[in-house]
Amino acid sequence: MVEDGRFLYTETQRIMDIQESLKNLPSVENVLQDKRIQSHITDVSRMGVTRIARETIAATRERMIGGDPPALGKADLKETIVVTAAAELEALVSDRLGPVINATGVILHTNLGRAVLGDETCAAINDVAGEYSDLEIDVKTGQRTDRTARARRLIRLITGAEDALVVNNNAAAVLLAVQTLASEGGVAVSRGELVEIGGSFRLPEILASLAERVIEVGTTNKTHLKDYERAVKEGARLLLKVHTSNYAIVGYTDEVPLSKLAELGRGSNVPVMYDQGSGVVSPLESKGVKGEESIQDLLETGVDLVCFSADKVLGGPQGGIIVGRADLISMMRSNHLSRALRVGKLTLAGLESVLRQYWLGRSDSIPALSMMMSSPGEVRARAEEFALLLGRSAPSDCRIEAVDGESSVGGGSYPIKPLRTTLVEINLPTGRPERLSTCLRGMDPPVLVRVKGNSVFIDLRTVKPAGEETLLKYLQEGIGKVK
Ligand SMILES: *Cc1c(COP(=O)(O)O)cnc(C)c1O
Repeated sequence: MVEDGRFLYTETQRIMDIQESLKNLPSVENVLQDKRIQSHITDVSRMGVTRIARETIAATRERMIGGDPPALGKADLKETIVVTAAAELEALVSDRLGPVINATGVILHTNLGRAVLGDETCAAINDVAGEYSDLEIDVKTGQRTDRTARARRLIRLITGAEDALVVNNNAAAVLLAVQTLASEGGVAVSRGELVEIGGSFRLPEILASLAERVIEVGTTNKTHLKDYERAVKEGARLLLKVHTSNYAIVGYTDEVPLSKLAELGRGSNVPVMYDQGSGVVSPLESKGVKGEESIQDLLETGVDLVCFSADKVLGGPQGGIIVGRADLISMMRSNHLSRALRVGKLTLAGLESVLRQYWLGRSDSIPALSMMMSSPGEVRARAEEFALLLGRSAPSDCRIEAVDGESSVGGGSYPIKPLRTTLVEINLPTGRPERLSTCLRGMDPPVLVRVKGNSVFIDLRTVKPAGEETLLKYLQEGIGKVK
């Protein structure tokens, strides 16, 4: 009883103390008057700055009610709030979307912006960014034109497709195709291909929201032609095959080859679409990269439509491309949804530039491809030299060497086909690799690395040669700093 009584007393006292200290919170007006906050106020920002001041006070209040920070005096409390709000206001200006050095060896990392564009492509984008452009006008005739006409022509000539359609990304391509072709009837897709592709793109849910019906065929590991035949009888208006690019089903499996599916589609007058995903256009095999079938090869199977991303293996800016039968593409183009999915001039300038490089046989100058095609020998030579340079300045408890490893294409491409690479291993005493990694992320530009066990690993495959010097400097700095 005594114990309980004492507890009750302390708890009551604590609450009273908190209530007392809450009275010390400054008013919004009071915070706004501080010159560290005043300096951020413009005609436009006044309302926003007031909101940040209010939010900071409210957050501090919440924390105080939770007992943190402990009761502070009036002046200290205001100081804490002003400093926090001022830091937030600074960040609004300094924290912008910016470049990072990707030393992870993942070539197409969605979180890092996927394909890096080459100089020629960046210049093409820059050219139209600050000027008016002939986006939708034929300057010879003065007539209005289709903004994607040039890109479409190049895609058709490169892939051999009858026609092409360019939209905002590959998810939009799937959406447009399914909505156009299967909003009546239904779409048939194998149970082994009902994938989630990062973020919130879950195929079964998307299909269900677009098609009248989703007809799931086969099983997770085996789908046969007769399963699709049944779906056609049940009224499927589109047969969709999806490249399961971010995972593989291995073991006792069976899927229907695209050519067989295409044959069924032709025979029953139901279009067949393949969501290929990565957009392999050049023959990577000839460069020693064991790759996937190219868009050209896929179209040869007789499939009606193939769609893919523009910013994966294709190596362009974010976009989605559908190639195939002109009549189907024309239906999609006249779908009112296509207006909502259209691409902007910056995307088109970049995409046209990349496609032109394919056309001119200069795909080696597309960074995503050149990174993939970098031979193991080239990467090894770079890694060995880098390890040597870094090793010279390394402290005695840090071991640096070039070791065999694997790069990954990423972006849901080539899940089981990593690329042989040579990594620079920086072996450090326990705890330091994580600290080095954190320190490197704090650099400008930030550096992203792999950490495994007691080592930090650098894969130069995804680092532009021009960025090596900065990387070396930051690593030397970082290794010297973390203890
Ligand atoms: C990446 C991918 C998508 C999504 O493409 P986005 O361009 O990111 O919208 C869809 N399907 C497949 C098979 C993919 O690999």
